Amino acid sequence: MPEVVITSDWTMMSDHNGKEFLGFGTTTPAMVLPEAAYRRLFFPPMKTDEAGFPVMASYGMRKIEAALIDGGFDARIVHPSHLDLYMPGKAKVLLISGHDYLGLNPPSTTFAGIMKKEPLNRVNFMRMLRQPHVVEARRQGMKIIAGGPCAWQLSPATRSKLTWVDDFVKEIGGVDTVVEGEADLYVREIVAKALKGEPLPEHVILSPRDAPAVEQISSMRYASINGLTEIGRGCCRGCSFCSVTQRPTRWYPLEKIEEELKINAAAGITDGLLHSDDVMFYGSPNIMPREEKLLPLMSLAKKYYEHVGWSHVAVATLMTKPNLLPKIHDILCTGTQSWWGVEIGMETGSPRLITKAMPGKVAPFRASQWPELVVQAAGLLNDNSVFPACTFIVGLPQETEEDVIRTIDLFDDLWDFKAILVPMFFVPLGHLTSKDWFKRDMVSDRQKELMTRALTHGIRQSRALLDVFFENRPGFSGKIYKTAFTGFIDFINFVAKQKGLINEPKLEKRTPIESPLRHPEQIPLPTIPVR
Ligand code: SF4
Repeated sequence: MPEVVITSDWTMMSDHNGKEFLGFGTTTPAMVLPEAAYRRLFFPPMKTDEAGFPVMASYGMRKIEAALIDGGFDARIVHPSHLDLYMPGKAKVLLISGHDYLGLNPPSTTFAGIMKKEPLNRVNFMRMLRQPHVVEARRQGMKIIAGGPCAWQLSPATRSKLTWVDDFVKEIGGVDTVVEGEADLYVREIVAKALKGEPLPEHVILSPRDAPAVEQISSMRYASINGLTEIGRGCCRGCSFCSVTQRPTRWYPLEKIEEELKINAAAGITDGLLHSDDVMFYGSPNIMPREEKLLPLMSLAKKYYEHVGWSHVAVATLMTKPNLLPKIHDILCTGTQSWWGVEIGMETGSPRLITKAMPGKVAPFRASQWPELVVQAAGLLNDNSVFPACTFIVGLPQETEEDVIRTIDLFDDLWDFKAILVPMFFVPLGHLTSKDWFKRDMVSDRQKELMTRALTHGIRQSRALLDVFFENRPGFSGKIYKTAFTGFIDFINFVAKQKGLINEPKLEKRTPIESPLRHPEQIPLPTIPVR
């Protein structure tokens, strides 16, 4: 019977139908269709055992659970529908985690801003903490500690900026401590204090100096959602709007990664994701991918999973050693796997904005090469059966109309790119926390053009991608999923047409995407000294 309960809301406690990418669907409001339809498509309930422990849980929460268990605490992750088994009464401390508690991150603010309705993640997070048994446990003195990547959303700074957040926190009787940063070590200290009834700090920001060394990071004890397995932490590219860049870069040795792959495989997971902020940097001390590190990692993952995906990769990393991707393809695309997905932060089509806000993103290339690099990376990716979700930022404080035009031009060049282009409103994170959120009423005509162009591209390409997307669901269940998602895309297309949001590029502007391997002379590769 755990006295320390860790949980998240229902949008996080789901395998998103086995597709991490479908988790994006939890950042939208429920429009026209009832919430239950969105739940079925994007966050079906996670199975649990009789104790309310989920068979899979988010990787970050598994790390915190493992850190506490290794530290001798009686702690477990509990499904939000089964918190009543432990409270009021048994649970003394409730740790909450999430990627976007209150829908304040870029995808949620974009969708909610456009549709003028609360996103599903916010609705579910508030619903979880408003459950009567949670409220009663809180009244009886249970401590609440908030962490995870979106802990900043409950911080005093956010509460002072957004009164509705402050009102909600007061309604639930307050949050004892908000912890920002990597808490693998600190969680033991704060939970010990909470259990002893000692005074708790309201807000803790862990600095990069507090970040645990690789050997101090506990390995998860139970399976993670969609087999997500971390291979390292941190990113050295230094983009001004990103919080990841403030962390030191660390890579896990293969043995540590294998330990967690085994746990997921033993739980019956056959499709898994390798996670880092740039998977192709694995094992590298600089910005040059290390083939001798990366290929064994791919082979190891393939030993445990039938289908291996990646969380993130950078355009410049792909293009620094373009010959590496075909080698990775030959390892991963065997057996039943014919493709893989990844998220890529493309951010903009403007070299000027790259220079101003994210010069490290293009290194070791020049900012002036960025649009061409992106188009060639698109060719390289599709040639090697990688179909990514590419994010772009709308409303960066430094953005001008000319920058937006350059991004629209890039979208037109990417018209045949088998990918999803996702524009997202700027959110003040990283080195830009003093700036304000970009909001719907700030969207210019040009930015609207950019967003409708991305929507039109997305409708066109997502239809084309459905076949491969559900290839690992053969037979009847695959057909059901495909039919359901085809219906959903048709629905979006219908609404977009009704509202005049379909926006195709002019035919003469489209250029074919080019792979650097087909045209090796196009971008001269820089020579980088390898340490
Ligand atoms: S490349 Fe990505 S992870 Fe790295 S600092 Fe830039 S936005 Fe963050």
